[in-house]
Amino acid sequence: MISFKKNNTPKIVKPGPNLEAEARDWTKCPGCRALLYNKHLSENYQICPKCNHHFRLNSREWLRLLSDEGSFCPLFEEFEAEDILEFTDNETYVERIKKACKKTNANEAIQTGTCTIEGHKIAIGVMNFHFIGGSMGVVVGEKIVRLTTLATEQKLPLLILSASGGARMQEGMFSLLQMARTAGAIGRFQKENGLYLSLLTHPTTGGVSASYAFLGDVIIAEPQALIGFAGARVIEQTTRQKLPPRFQTAEFLVEHGQIDKIVERKVMKKVIARILSFYQEGWSSHGVKKNE
Ligand SMILES: [Zn+2]
Repeated sequence: MISFKKNNTPKIVKPGPNLEAEARDWTKCPGCRALLYNKHLSENYQICPKCNHHFRLNSREWLRLLSDEGSFCPLFEEFEAEDILEFTDNETYVERIKKACKKTNANEAIQTGTCTIEGHKIAIGVMNFHFIGGSMGVVVGEKIVRLTTLATEQKLPLLILSASGGARMQEGMFSLLQMARTAGAIGRFQKENGLYLSLLTHPTTGGVSASYAFLGDVIIAEPQALIGFAGARVIEQTTRQKLPPRFQTAEFLVEHGQIDKIVERKVMKKVIARILSFYQEGWSSHGVKKNE
């Protein structure tokens, strides 16, 4: 805050705390530049009512949106990232982790646990892009493997919500290994006829898109989400070809059969609950009871 004084006469009036609080009440939409009242934005699931821009939700907000109130039971919270390679770029990895923990009030880029969705019990993993770009390191991989194993043992459907820039480069090869580990765990789960729902949000790219994100029995995406492996510019430079418009958007991928459905955030919980009930009905009609 700035306050100038000359001859004891204030020239600029110091903004009071109310002005600051008011500034925090508004958000500028990056899609249409409109100033949006935060209360209205929050009532509209963090979607711009003017241009439909989807603001990014963190893992807690997603859990609040999808799970029945008070049903989320966190699991595997004890794992914390380690600086295995003693990696430093423009800051140390240890420092980066510390900052991410403070910023997100979480200890990793994924929250895992169990919850119910309209009464259906599931194993759920929700990534948080705000934690080092939702990158997948050893802990994210380990939590997904454990969650998937739990879903296999307890015969629970599995839902993983992805929001990630890819593998965590500060963990080098150890992070890339997680692609094989998570894919293997999901393969074993699917062999046991478990249902895996993959929900892709903006952005889902790199090693995450090349492993568990695209292995879902049902793959759902949010409107306008960027989904792909390498960036469009890298592909254009490598192939020396112009890419089609809207390449790597959820809309493009659904048209080309790479994902099953685009679902609006406001009906996401209902759609997932409906898929879960189809699954349960299917199983009971084969004489097998799920979710006991
Ligand atoms: Zn907008």
